[in-house]
Amino acid sequence: MKPVIALVGRPNVGKSTLFNRLTRSRDAIVADYAGLTRDRHYGDGKVGEHEFIVIDTGGFEPDSSTGIVREMAKQTKQAVAEADAVVFVVDVRAGLSAQDHDIAQYLRSTDKRVILAANKAEGMRDAPQLAEFYELGMGEPHAISAAHGQGVRSLVEAALEGLEPAPELGEEEGEEDAEAPVIKLAVAGRPNVGKSTLINTWLGEERLVAFDLPGTTRDAIRVPFERNGQRFELIDTAGLRRKGKVFEAIEKFSVVKTLQAIAESNVVVLLLDATEGVTDQDAHIAGYVLDNGRAVVIAVNKWDAVDDYQRQMLQRSLEQRLAFLKFAPVLHISALKRQGLGPLWKAIADAHASAFRKMPTPVLTRLLHEAVQFQAPKRAGMFRPKLRYAHQGGMNPPRIIIHGNSLEHVTEAYKRYLEGRFREHFKLVGTPLRIEMRSSR
Ligand code: GDP
Ligand code: GDP
Repeated sequence: MKPVIALVGRPNVGKSTLFNRLTRSRDAIVADYAGLTRDRHYGDGKVGEHEFIVIDTGGFEPDSSTGIVREMAKQTKQAVAEADAVVFVVDVRAGLSAQDHDIAQYLRSTDKRVILAANKAEGMRDAPQLAEFYELGMGEPHAISAAHGQGVRSLVEAALEGLEPAPELGEEEGEEDAEAPVIKLAVAGRPNVGKSTLINTWLGEERLVAFDLPGTTRDAIRVPFERNGQRFELIDTAGLRRKGKVFEAIEKFSVVKTLQAIAESNVVVLLLDATEGVTDQDAHIAGYVLDNGRAVVIAVNKWDAVDDYQRQMLQRSLEQRLAFLKFAPVLHISALKRQGLGPLWKAIADAHASAFRKMPTPVLTRLLHEAVQFQAPKRAGMFRPKLRYAHQGGMNPPRIIIHGNSLEHVTEAYKRYLEGRFREHFKLVGTPLRIEMRSSR
């Protein structure tokens, strides 16, 4: 599971700036999808090779807790509880404040690993101002500048020390060669869309053999099962526990668990509630799925409970709000009434197969040449992009790397055209496809 870092500190110390810096270095490829809005509080962080989940918290004012402020403090406490490490941000230019002391006191009571980040320290690495922050009793302040990116990498490395999972050597090859790969599956969705109902319906299915759950691990639980000879592993987002014959979600909805499960899975079933349409929270979860490049199937649940008008509204909100997932098949199901589950299984299997499709270099290169012959990329001033050959750069999501010259002038529209050709030939459904250009000069 990806480790979790929470950013905590009083207002205006630079938490959001740091959050943006930690989360923005994602693949540029996924940066600009129409309709994709981001949750400002949770994100996939990446610094160098380090991947983690980062939570930004509202301003933290422990002692003036009334109304909205108290609500913020509650959210901050929840974020701290879910985090593996806390980055406590202070403002070097403003100096130490009483609020900083209050926050330090609270953090000490939590027994969490705390890393002190002295922000706005551009150009003052060894400044005497840093020394006063030792008073917080949080160890050495790490001088950083969130705005300029200074010191951020070593801050993150200090926060993550010992928390990162050891790299699973050869995992990708193993999955590629295994005769019957295990499909890692996550059911993601906001509260009350029907995740537990679906999972219980699945696990109660006759054709499905569920294996025992591990005892009471604190970590997200994986439920192995087999259906028609296909092995699956359900990566739980809801703190499932077995109670008699059924599974019960004992924890509240957790964005962090959802993010971790998405990152761990191969295929995500994005569950929506037909009676409510596509909400902001649905769109945010969909955004995480896209960021992670997971294969995805959209399942609109509670189809039994809506009339024709609601069905039309739902269709429209899907087109408007989840336009960036238009490669994902949409299934209409009722977890409660056990309707539409067969087609859902098939869509999951197809999405998984697409995500792991092998695309041989000669075929990719031939398709590329045919596509160029049919419609050449536009000349940009004195440059004409020359697309020479293509090879597969990875799976889940499939990546196609195109080599040639002046490829930085290939337009987004042309990339989409190529994507369409590749998708059609390899019958890719339910998975993003990433196309990267590599110019030799
Ligand atoms: P938050 O309330 O803790 O989330 O703080 P913000 O990220 O909104 O930042 C508050 C102010 O500090 C903004 O005006 C930022 O531009 C500024 N700021 C953030 N990081 C830095 C930094 O590294 N150096 C300087 N000089 N200003 C910064
Ligand atoms: P979760 O929070 O996503 O795990 O949602 P639950 O599985 O707890 O379901 C929330 C509510 O929706 C419960 O009252 C379920 O009975 C109801 N529900 C779930 N699936 C369906 C469905 O297919 N049709 C209808 N009408 N109700 C459903």
